Amino acid sequence: MQAARPDVADFVKAQAPDLRNPESCPALVLNADFRPLSYYPLSLWSWQDTVKAVFLDRVNIVSEYETIVHSPSTDFVLPSVVSLKTYVKPPRYPAFTRFNVFLRDGFTCQYCGAPHELTFDHVIPRRAGGRTTWDNVVAACSPCNLRKGGRMPKQANMMPRNKPIQPTVYQLHETGRRFPPNYCHESWQDYLYWDTELEA
Ligand SMILES: [Zn+2]
Repeated sequence: MQAARPDVADFVKAQAPDLRNPESCPALVLNADFRPLSYYPLSLWSWQDTVKAVFLDRVNIVSEYETIVHSPSTDFVLPSVVSLKTYVKPPRYPAFTRFNVFLRDGFTCQYCGAPHELTFDHVIPRRAGGRTTWDNVVAACSPCNLRKGGRMPKQANMMPRNKPIQPTVYQLHETGRRFPPNYCHESWQDYLYWDTELEA
């Protein structure tokens, strides 16, 4: 069964922070091609870092909040979206981290599909020489992890739903787009096509 995904607009209404407070005004950071530097976690900068980058002439302001910060010499409207002036080539392969393994596997157990109690399972157990690598580690819920124990996939009759592979950054981005952030300012939405399928 698939749970209904909340609409981005619900997030905006439900969790809108106090935008009068600059601390609640991070900027969405886009690459020079106007795609987010990263989707998950979403590339956001604090207002301080954003203002610094504007003054260093490293970014263009794409959109602004209504929030203004005052300094002795000037007032500054906080950007809500900025884009880098110089294109940063994204790395081809992501780091092998626990988070990225979960993300590759869509935050679901690779044996039963459960989204809860996620742990990591070595498909080929460590004691049988299985290594801790992209192609041997999958997300598994703890009941499945327990059930499989130290057995080989065939012995346990438990095969991962997706063959574990090293994903590219692009693939992880595509997966990350299925998981919208808790909060999404309305000016960000044009750059974040969460869960949108383009129909030909
Ligand atoms: Zn499971």
